[in-house]
Amino acid sequence: MKADEGAASVVVAIDGPAASGKSTVSRRLAGALGYLYVDSGALYRGVTWAALEQGIPGTDTARVLSCMAACRFAFEVADGAVVFTIDGFRPVGQLRTETVNRNVSPVAAVPEVRVQVVEWLRSLVRFGSLVMEGRDIGTKVFPASPFKFYLDAAPEERARRRHEEMAGQVSAAEVGESLKRRDLIDSRRQMDPLKVAADARVIDSTGMGVDDVVQVILADIEARRACAS
Ligand code: C5P
Repeated sequence: MKADEGAASVVVAIDGPAASGKSTVSRRLAGALGYLYVDSGALYRGVTWAALEQGIPGTDTARVLSCMAACRFAFEVADGAVVFTIDGFRPVGQLRTETVNRNVSPVAAVPEVRVQVVEWLRSLVRFGSLVMEGRDIGTKVFPASPFKFYLDAAPEERARRRHEEMAGQVSAAEVGESLKRRDLIDSRRQMDPLKVAADARVIDSTGMGVDDVVQVILADIEARRACAS
């Protein structure tokens, strides 16, 4: 990437815990703004999936790191989003299995994995302006972004949403437990834990529809732009 490449790009950071509605909201927001959508969690899932494919459990840090270094991650734009391939293959459904769900937070807690993923994420401004969702976008990946949002929702509502998404693959109770486990690891890990950026606007989406949340964010962006001009 050249020194000034992506300098004019704007990044909207959307952080929050699992199943807080970030993905749907971020995708729709990106469409409304004409920006590209980036799912940063998919990259942590990609590293995890690639390791699992080679029979390496998420807790075997040394082998996860060798596997990550040996795989070729490449980025491209598809359907309004920046997506990636691993050794030429684009994993999609493979990233959302319960096995990946169980292994991804320990993998994402490994400092070397985070350094690599953050580097990849920062490089994506070369594609243009972005709506990027994750856990540390406003605090670590793009701390200078003027547009930071933290989406949350009641634990029961998050579990219900995720259970619906998984279309009965696992029970509602298991989904709730899995979310709780991930939230705990994500918010307690040493490096860049999930937390609200000091200058983020917190939105509790419990009981709100996707469009309502998108409208709140768009109005906030508009207001911040008006203030800045
Ligand atoms: O967003 P999603 O639930 O797909 O993310 C999967 C996992 O990746 C999270 O539970 C977290 O452990 C990790 N993650 C992260 N930092 C991000 C995005 C995701 O640590 N920016």
